[in-house]
Amino acid sequence: MTTAPIANGTATLTPPSPRTIAGRAHDAEHPKLFQRVREQMDQAAEAVGLAPEVRKILSSPVCEVSVNFPVRMDDGRIEMFSGYRVQHNNVLGPFKGGIRYHQDVSIDEVRALAAWMTIKCALVDIPFGGGKGGVQVDPATLSRREIERMTRRFVYALGANIGPGYDVPAPDVNTDARTMAWIVDTYAATLPPQERYRALAVVTGKPVSAGGSVGREKATGQGVVDLIEMWAADKNCTVADLTYTVQGFGKVGAWAARILKDKGAKLLAAQDVTGAIKASGPTGLDADALAEHVKKTGGVAGFPGATAITREAFFGVEADVFIPAALENQVTGETARLLNVRLVAEGANGPTTPEGDAVLCERGIDVLPDVLCNAGGVVVSYFEWLQNRGGAAWDAAEIDHKLKDILTRAYGRVKEMVESKSLDWRTAAYAVALRRIEQVYAERGIYP
Ligand code: GLU
Repeated sequence: MTTAPIANGTATLTPPSPRTIAGRAHDAEHPKLFQRVREQMDQAAEAVGLAPEVRKILSSPVCEVSVNFPVRMDDGRIEMFSGYRVQHNNVLGPFKGGIRYHQDVSIDEVRALAAWMTIKCALVDIPFGGGKGGVQVDPATLSRREIERMTRRFVYALGANIGPGYDVPAPDVNTDARTMAWIVDTYAATLPPQERYRALAVVTGKPVSAGGSVGREKATGQGVVDLIEMWAADKNCTVADLTYTVQGFGKVGAWAARILKDKGAKLLAAQDVTGAIKASGPTGLDADALAEHVKKTGGVAGFPGATAITREAFFGVEADVFIPAALENQVTGETARLLNVRLVAEGANGPTTPEGDAVLCERGIDVLPDVLCNAGGVVVSYFEWLQNRGGAAWDAAEIDHKLKDILTRAYGRVKEMVESKSLDWRTAAYAVALRRIEQVYAERGIYP
């Protein structure tokens, strides 16, 4: 069902200025993203004989909020922006999922990302449903003050559609702790003064100094590494023996690489929108120095001491593990054929197309699917939400330990499903999640 925003939707005075949607065409290889999620769910539902009504319920989101809102630019102009919040399912708990700022954001993409959050939260067994939000904008074209005003206007336009016990956003592509702090501040201002103490739990991924949790910033990368460690143990090796490549050196890619460096793994190549680079020497690329370089220059290109390579050459680098940690649709039929690795550990959401999956399977390349591999972020978001609601502060060791525990159990459940039903890891992960949701619908029923 598509609904108008519940409150504070700002009327569009002039039509939004046209924005170029670069890149990802919906051709045969990239069907509509939400349709892909539905097909993935159907495949898993089929494999475990899921109750048909559960499949039917999950085939459309509970609610979709679409807002157009004006923002004052630094030069005094008013510019219109389009934003979305899709609330896919909340049978397990409040809607949960990030907000992204990207020029390619569309309602279809946000719908798919929201559905992936439903699967992810159910799979790792935390009491949240799935949601996602996005604003269609290239934040690189805006100043910091413009991004702040846009964020605040977006939150205002969403109004009562988000809330600590209802729908809890978090960082995603091109949003971070600072963005979350602006969201809390704006949301708090919409509450009566006596109610404002509740505002902290409206988002997770806040700065630690402003109610965030220690360990949240690195959590998705930490989870990726934890999962790679579990995979390596099953192959009778350790992370210190591994070589790897990373696509995307933002929050997820950079943190995974820095943690992998501490564990002795070797980074052979990296790629992002600015280009691709390969280590020139036998010691590999230094993840900490590369993260500094990216912070300073905006991308991996030009990293001192590394050799520039083409995107094709990047995909062909021989390594043990490839970590896609950027956007959707990167491991396609074509790029999957170039890969020269044993494992694809999905840090991004939706990086592999169905054609890519088929090629990986045919070539015997293992996959740690996104809904499992990048779940560390939302798990520590859950810890942050609990701390906010309980007025508590957990320490880093406790967070790391609890995160690993949850991911280890999820890994075990997926592995058991892979083995008992002879499924690939992605289908098995979906099957575990869907079974969890099915159980709740069976117990609760549907009222009224
Ligand atoms: N955006 C992250 C994801 O896709 C984190 C979501 C959250 O913490 O709520 O999993």
